Amino acid sequence: MPRILFFLAIGYVLYRLVKTLFRKRMTQPSRRTGDVETFRDPVCGVYVTSEDAVIARLNGEKIHFCSTECLEKYRQDSENTSPHADESGGSK
Ligand SMILES: [Zn+2]
Repeated sequence: MPRILFFLAIGYVLYRLVKTLFRKRMTQPSRRTGDVETFRDPVCGVYVTSEDAVIARLNGEKIHFCSTECLEKYRQDSENTSPHADESGGSK
């Protein structure tokens, strides 16, 4: 059996191993949702953790958004529906 094929195979396996190890390490923070509470962005429907979320207090309710854009959108929508907008949330 040609020896070079053997080394190529080992190199390929090592390469895959390193790649998967790195990928695991990369995805670990975001996949660690088992013990982290997730909240649904009411604007775009994306699930966010309290760490990543933009949290706003609107009408005494804590609402989590994926971004400030969604927060602004939601705020505008609620301003349109309710006559007196509750601006007590403020920014951080
Ligand atoms: Zn969003």
